[in-house]
Amino acid sequence: MSNFNIDELVRENILKLEPYSSARNEYSGEASVFLDANENSYGSPLPESYHRYPDPLQWQLKQALSKIKGVPPQNIFIGNGSDEVIDLAYRIFCRPGVDNVILCPPTYGMYKVAGGINDIETREVLMTPDFQLNVEGILEVVDERSKLLFLCSPNNPTGNNLNRLDMEMLLNNFQGIVLIDEAYINYSRQKSFVQELTEYPNLVVMQTLSKAWGLAGLRLGLAFASEKILSLFNKVKPPYNVNLSSQQLGIKALESLESVNQTIRVTVEQRMLLQEALTHFPFIEKIYPSDANFLLVKTKDADDLYHFLSAKRIIVRNRSKEPLCQNCLRITIGTEKENEILLDALKNYPHG
Ligand SMILES: *Cc1c(COP(=O)(O)O)cnc(C)c1O
Repeated sequence: MSNFNIDELVRENILKLEPYSSARNEYSGEASVFLDANENSYGSPLPESYHRYPDPLQWQLKQALSKIKGVPPQNIFIGNGSDEVIDLAYRIFCRPGVDNVILCPPTYGMYKVAGGINDIETREVLMTPDFQLNVEGILEVVDERSKLLFLCSPNNPTGNNLNRLDMEMLLNNFQGIVLIDEAYINYSRQKSFVQELTEYPNLVVMQTLSKAWGLAGLRLGLAFASEKILSLFNKVKPPYNVNLSSQQLGIKALESLESVNQTIRVTVEQRMLLQEALTHFPFIEKIYPSDANFLLVKTKDADDLYHFLSAKRIIVRNRSKEPLCQNCLRITIGTEKENEILLDALKNYPHG
């Protein structure tokens, strides 16, 4: 992508914005008496330094992430979940009521919701029946007001990887920002795009600690991009968007890379076992190939099976209203025990 000028994509008010300067911004060094932030000098009921505002740029957590991801800390952004990253992208690049973004359903629902909240038109280009990108169709609906293109690989709710060549083609030809959501990359055989940031100045890779790292409750969403793009994210985000306990617990969790890798291996193994077991039920018509921690299955009657399972207190996700997902349920890979409970319940499904 030559002649890429990020400033031409950014909303004028954001380019001109003078960001809020917090006390922690204006003085971030070591000192013994901090009387600059109206914190409570008498402390809190909690043992640690929760009476202090957290590091606005989460440098310690970024250092730890940098070692694991092989990306310099200045190319990492941490959001209050991926939700914040998605919303920031809209607010930085898209003029309400004027610009548009491109989505490829069936995919993650938040992209469209965030568009609705920000009053941005979402142009939807359906995937092919095997859940791959319609590259030509995407390039056809793009115009000079198309600011963002959301790609999700492995995709949710379908579970498959998108073809890498298609994504590269779009990175090279789409004149806006391409966000590649890699929430499930740790379960995938596909290589991450995080090493391609220097290759593509319009690339934002999203990841999260909510899935393979098991930290959904801490709300730690990640974005990897050029320093230029991330300087915009940092300018627009709330000053203390990642709270202190999330930063501290995130750092602690990242010390356990080996045990996390072990649960990833177990999850993938359980996925293969569940996939195999599901093929034996006549009311399951298709199990889509998955590189994630869930399976999308096509059933004879998704609503009926969903209600049957929920009556047994087993909750799966009914995705049958999504385009191309008629009669499909999305099943998260559980523990070995949970998967057995699911399979036992399915054996008693009367409509087999
Ligand atoms: C689960 C998921 C996320 C994670 O969102 P967080 O806000 O970081 O928890 C992001 N993208 C997709 C496609 C997901 O399925």
